[in-house]
Amino acid sequence: MKDDVRWVKTHCARMDHGGCALLVGVKDNKIVSIKGDPDGFLNKGYICPKGVASPDRLTHSDRLKHPLKRAGKRGEGKWKQISWQEALSEIAQNLNKIKEKYGAKGVAFGVGMPKGLEHFVLIRLANIFGSPNVISSQDVCHAPREITGVHTCGFYPVANLHHKSKLVLLWASNITSTNEEGEISSMLLEQLKHGAELIVVDPRKIDLVKKSKKWLQLRPGTDHALALGFLNVIIEESLYDKDFVENWTYGFEDLAEHVKKYTPEKISEITWVSPDQIRASARLYATSKPAVIQWGNPIEHNIYTFDTTRALICLMAVCGNLDVPGGNVHAKDPKIMGLGQFVRSDLIPDKRKEMISAYHGVIPRLMTIAPSFFKKAILEGVPYPIKGFYAMCANPMLSYADSRQTYEAFMNLDFIAVADLFMTPTAAMADIVLPVASQFEMDDIGHYGLGHGFILARPKVVDPPEECWPDIKIMNELGKRISPAEYWHNDYSQFLEDVVNPGDLTYSQFVEKGYLKGPDRFKLYEEKGFRTPTGKVELKLSTAGKFNLSPLPTFTGLPEEDDPEYPLVLTNSKSQYYLHSSYRWIKRLREKRPEPKAEIHPHTALQYGIKEGDEVIIETRYGKITQIAHCTDIVDPRVINASHGWWFPEEEAESLYGWKKSNFNFLTSAEKLGKEFGTPNLKAIGCKISRK
Ligand code: SF4
Repeated sequence: MKDDVRWVKTHCARMDHGGCALLVGVKDNKIVSIKGDPDGFLNKGYICPKGVASPDRLTHSDRLKHPLKRAGKRGEGKWKQISWQEALSEIAQNLNKIKEKYGAKGVAFGVGMPKGLEHFVLIRLANIFGSPNVISSQDVCHAPREITGVHTCGFYPVANLHHKSKLVLLWASNITSTNEEGEISSMLLEQLKHGAELIVVDPRKIDLVKKSKKWLQLRPGTDHALALGFLNVIIEESLYDKDFVENWTYGFEDLAEHVKKYTPEKISEITWVSPDQIRASARLYATSKPAVIQWGNPIEHNIYTFDTTRALICLMAVCGNLDVPGGNVHAKDPKIMGLGQFVRSDLIPDKRKEMISAYHGVIPRLMTIAPSFFKKAILEGVPYPIKGFYAMCANPMLSYADSRQTYEAFMNLDFIAVADLFMTPTAAMADIVLPVASQFEMDDIGHYGLGHGFILARPKVVDPPEECWPDIKIMNELGKRISPAEYWHNDYSQFLEDVVNPGDLTYSQFVEKGYLKGPDRFKLYEEKGFRTPTGKVELKLSTAGKFNLSPLPTFTGLPEEDDPEYPLVLTNSKSQYYLHSSYRWIKRLREKRPEPKAEIHPHTALQYGIKEGDEVIIETRYGKITQIAHCTDIVDPRVINASHGWWFPEEEAESLYGWKKSNFNFLTSAEKLGKEFGTPNLKAIGCKISRK
């Protein structure tokens, strides 16, 4: 019987940001076994519990299997099964109607975090349709790091864990729990095995603290201050790389003068990290060469994310760790189709001026719309009305800041179509719901367009249920109905060929290889300079005046002022068993984390009369929810760490699956936003707690 099992190599997808190579055993069109592939470029055989459970998505009894049309009021949970032809015609009619009345920009296209080729087919669909508005949570994931990098040093400085580092500065990245985009924890553990030292910057005592030389338990939301404190020590103590600073940076004298005020003593008052810890850690980073900063997206959950990412890139630069092996590098792509060409950006030349966020004066090069601006456009018509929404692989009702406002916004849309695997609180608000094929059921390419210098083959392993279509196919067919057919393919799989053909490869040849990686070429700046206006790393931004940006990274305050009414600092984290709001329906994962836990220090719990397992009401200025108390010294006594992304698929459709009960985004606000990216404050909110 064992011989009947066919083993297929592919890569994990849609379970987190990672990209583990997998060996998948298939029999009779069913996945019967799954394991990490020892040849994996990123994971070398590693697989996490989510990866192991990932085939359960395919065979789950609640999976959407047919297109549905709303048959009751919006959100009422009443549906009528329709054919694909009806579904696509209905969507096309509605989007075209909105286009006639409000222009193409009256329709927005939304994406969660699929990290496959469909992400870029969606942007292509929007561009060809003529809408500049692609809504994505990139404001809190990826964009601040990438775009600040482009402005500061001309590229997105990704952690180069493939070459030996002397030290890893793990900043807001719980990588053994939730792997990072393009980086798998096994790579970091390998570094430690080979002698790299580790500094952890995290408000929680994460597992990797055990392996660290130093742990800086900072107050949530003060990363910008701490990074400036590091710069103060390194510059004041003359620990920086003199040669690099002299030849390859712009504005060092100004930065040096500017950071004088951020003494460890002052920064300690803000961050709760002791001056000695700040000094010792900054010295260790500056004197270990090469050193790499592995940063996670929590630094982007802050209205001051621009200052944090600027300060961290300045740190990389002044310590000579930019674009060196084992540092933070400019990853070079293999020979593949360029992103602009793939998404047909030529068809929408005025996108930058026309997109909603242009009105809000965001940083140049941010090409997606922050959700908070999207909702403003729906609710206030600012800068113009949005009336239609096509979303895939996204659950904004849980993932956008201020869930109450998100609900109101969705109730105000004329038309919503959602493509997903399962019914979610967001799909439940739609007019048309489309059933999609999952990973393992479609050919795909991973990590295209993400700046990590490689792409991963994700060939199909089994056939999808008959009426479940890959997102790419859906958009290829919808595209023909809402835009000129010449921009779409007869067969959607041609998109996969388009990406790899420039390297003289077919998709099947690419699958044989497993992945394509660009060349390792470091210090390219020595030949060509940095791709900034000054040709150097801009510690001080030469374009600050032109783009209304702060020239130097600055601490301007806490994301929220302290308020005695809400004496605790609320932060949140993701579970290793889920991806944002996904997969609560997978039994194997739900058994591991059955309920939303709120971490409370035992002293704080005692003070509030709360015991392990109690239902706890968490309340902020914006709302209140209930989670289950977990008393643990993993957090500081002044901090509450709640769980993100919770709803209950087992609850009634009419209640939108219990989405109000424990959903963290009832505790957040979309009013005070970072000016560069439109980012809300998600990680440092004043709160109070009580036993229910
Ligand atoms: S770490 Fe991420 S990519 Fe790897 S198996 Fe787990 S979910 Fe998949």
